[in-house]
Amino acid sequence: MDPPALRDIPQNAFVTPLTCVQRASRRWMAAHGGSGDDRPGIDVNRFLNLLLNRRERCAALMRLVLIGPPGVGKGTQAAVLSERLGVPHISTGDLFREHVARRTPLGRDAQRYLDTGELVPDHVTAGMVRDRLAHPDARHGFLLDGFPRTLPQARELAAVLGAAGSALDAVLEFTAPEEVVVARLLGRGRPDDTEDVIRHRQRVYRQQTAPLLAHYSAILLTVDAVGPVEDITARALAVLPDAERRAG
Ligand code: AMP
Repeated sequence: MDPPALRDIPQNAFVTPLTCVQRASRRWMAAHGGSGDDRPGIDVNRFLNLLLNRRERCAALMRLVLIGPPGVGKGTQAAVLSERLGVPHISTGDLFREHVARRTPLGRDAQRYLDTGELVPDHVTAGMVRDRLAHPDARHGFLLDGFPRTLPQARELAAVLGAAGSALDAVLEFTAPEEVVVARLLGRGRPDDTEDVIRHRQRVYRQQTAPLLAHYSAILLTVDAVGPVEDITARALAVLPDAERRAG
């Protein structure tokens, strides 16, 4: 595969993932005769190419899904991690809320499900995600937040990625006791956050989404999501290299 064009690479890609840059730099040094004063002059173009190739390989480890009960803080973590990893944050909940706000036909269909905490039917959700993943910014990686939430959605995602010759690299599961997440949601005050709807969404998670954890056991990384936001982010970033190691 050709290295990506410079304009396609997010600006922060050169800051993160830092390890990629460090490794590229080390490989360059190894290939070009050590370090220190006797080091040959650096060929900037060659170094940049190496970096871009490395970026391509790193991006291959950046197709991530975030999973966890409503209120566990996935959305917050997804926003921070997306910034740190240089991949887009794709939240199906946000996409649905945008459709509702813009009063699109899809938004009109989805509204009643959002209001009651039911899942929007799989074919509607999967179509929306397929369109979003076709955007150029998702070519080198993405962070899916709130999708898949059912086994058919997981199969659909595998099919979409498989057709493009790729696959998920890791599923990050965020965990917290139910009373903690319910208390968080009650404090959040979104229109779909009444206590009945909140309890119902927890039940929907247990029944329809939790089975995905076994489905993804080979690429599952679990993160304790109780505590300050920064601590949870640090825990997530700390387990991600496990995915890289598993992928070899
Ligand atoms: P969230 O913001 O992820 O809590 O999602 C809010 C609401 O959007 C959910 O309660 C569902 O009604 C709907 N929704 C979000 N993601 C999905 C999905 N993957 N499948 C079906 N419905 C979804």
